[in-house]
Amino acid sequence: MNEIKRAIYPGSFDPITNGHVDIISRAKKVFDEITIAVIQNPDKTPFFELEHRLELIKHLFKNDPHIKVEAFRGLLADFAQKRNVYTIIRGLRAVSDFDFEFQMALTNRHLNTKIDTVFFMTDEKYSYLSSSLVRQLAGLSADISSFVPPDIERSLKDRIHHG
Ligand code: ADP
Repeated sequence: MNEIKRAIYPGSFDPITNGHVDIISRAKKVFDEITIAVIQNPDKTPFFELEHRLELIKHLFKNDPHIKVEAFRGLLADFAQKRNVYTIIRGLRAVSDFDFEFQMALTNRHLNTKIDTVFFMTDEKYSYLSSSLVRQLAGLSADISSFVPPDIERSLKDRIHHG
């Protein structure tokens, strides 16, 4: 019997963008089950609270049995160990992502030698896209419909107009 191929895709996803969705759809061709691990970073005040980010991502993938969504805090290596899943997915946009990602990948492997990080390259049309750019553009009432799924666009607008 073939073993189910599982992987973890960690990130802040504040908010999830079409760039993230693109990485997930590429990764789905390789992995049977992907857990989107949404980081709760106590040092940063998020734009969307963790619960809201989880809710938005769960809703986005509600019809996809291959995608799981979970919150995580602390060490990714511990999260991986607890789930017995040792493959981490990360996205690469440009060379500028590489230094940081390389450092993270090696650190995670230092913490747990079983861990490997797999990188997927984004579609070039998302190569300059980031969650912070989306937040900034939404704040300036720019059209962000090609950068985020429609539900996320709605939530961003709500949050900006109604706090
Ligand atoms: P983090 O705060 O951990 O960087 P992000 O939510 O910003 O979390 O990103 C999670 C992962 O998705 C990272 O590997 C990042 O490089 C990748 N990513 C972010 N934006 C894009 C994009 N436009 N295309 C491809 N990958 C992306």
